[in-house]
Amino acid sequence: MVELAQSYAAAVPELSVPWRADAPPDPALVWLNEPLARELGYDPAHLRGEQGIAMLTGQIEGTTAQAYAGHQFGSANPQLGDGRAVLLGDLVDTAGTRRDLHLKGAGRTPFARGGDGKAPLGPMLREAVVGEWLHAVSVPTTRALAVLTTGERIAPRQGVTPEPGALLVRVAASHLRVGTVEYAAWHLDRDALRALVEHATERHHPGAASPIELLESVGRAQAELVAQWMLLGFVHGVMNTDNMTLSGEGIDYGPCAVLDVHRRGAVFSSIDRGGRYAYGNQPGIALWNLSRFAETLLPLIDEEAPDRAVERATAVLEDYEGWYLDAYALGLARKLGVSGSRDEVLDLGEQLFAQLEAQEVDHTGFFRALEADDGATLLEDREWFRRWEGMREGSPAGSPLLVPRNAHLESALRASHLGDLGPVHDLLRAVAAPFERHPGLEHLEGPGEGAEDVVTFCGT
Ligand code: AMP
Ligand code: MG
Repeated sequence: MVELAQSYAAAVPELSVPWRADAPPDPALVWLNEPLARELGYDPAHLRGEQGIAMLTGQIEGTTAQAYAGHQFGSANPQLGDGRAVLLGDLVDTAGTRRDLHLKGAGRTPFARGGDGKAPLGPMLREAVVGEWLHAVSVPTTRALAVLTTGERIAPRQGVTPEPGALLVRVAASHLRVGTVEYAAWHLDRDALRALVEHATERHHPGAASPIELLESVGRAQAELVAQWMLLGFVHGVMNTDNMTLSGEGIDYGPCAVLDVHRRGAVFSSIDRGGRYAYGNQPGIALWNLSRFAETLLPLIDEEAPDRAVERATAVLEDYEGWYLDAYALGLARKLGVSGSRDEVLDLGEQLFAQLEAQEVDHTGFFRALEADDGATLLEDREWFRRWEGMREGSPAGSPLLVPRNAHLESALRASHLGDLGPVHDLLRAVAAPFERHPGLEHLEGPGEGAEDVVTFCGT
């Protein structure tokens, strides 16, 4: 069995408390991610055994609950933290990369406030499906190693029927969030803040020689991440600063969704009434979050002259738009099979997306049709196709055939709630190899019925 280290608690002891997960009464593996298990150095058969289940359910020494703060929907919240999760520890995987193992749904922790500390099966499976898909399309993401049921029935999040309690074992480059640094900046002394920033730099951005370079490095990573999301039509749904990592991996897929019909204003989250985290707002929100991150770093950027620190941080943040547009235009040129200047590609894209939106065309379907040389059947605008032909170079490439469509995901989660895990296993198989056709699963390629009415729930 791979021994877990506690690198985080060792580096900044002020930012977590020793904490043990509740022992589940009757744990059962619903899904084990065998390729990921092997990548981590675990024998899947061992993880399925008694010792493996003990580790996966957090019944081991040394586990902690992490403290963090954050800006939620624009408002500062000084005290969040793992209300229902524990950090199991970290290990160095077979490729030599240090990774965290984390357990969600582990019961109330000292950070739980009013929450019950539990997690229902559906949302844990959703996070697993979305993580596997993002990984399969080469987008940096946390991933699920396993989903288990606990044997409990827990209070319903919606409706009145008790739900199966579940655990998600999550693998991440780390669980350092913008909100973690906010917590240190707001509650701890300068030395603890510095220790945290040094730990984050060493772990994720070893090329950064100073806090200002860390800001740049995190900014570039986030710009690239959000550009990939935009190109896929992915809506994270709750881009609070506590849901933004320093590593550049996407994390905490709660009320997230993938666009069916292309719509800039698309919102799927039941609690996002103002549309703050709408599809088209995501690049700007990432910059807003980075600005909060920058504020936490100010005392380390220039200890003597606060004004100079602000100037230097502002200069870095001003580059964000360029990083984002570079990454976005590069990806879009590949998807469209065109070459041209950044502005030409962006302009072609803008015209295209305006048309897709006006004609209510499916985002994923359009790019796949373009790859199949069939795009003209989906879009009436001849002028756009003439412009596109003029910029063509090579074939459109890199757009997935399969995305976790809202209607299919919802219906698979409903089935799992009722005890039928077949559909969610099908979906996991399909999204893990999203560029190929899966015989028997062709129905997962289209949006399905009722796709536009999907609302997902936060904090589940
Ligand atoms: P999330 O929406 O999962 O990112 O969670 C936001 C915050 O609420 C985090 O601090 C979570 O740990 C906490 N939280 C969410 N659900 C629960 C729950 N059932 N019990 C305790 N804390 C929770
Ligand atoms: Mg979160």
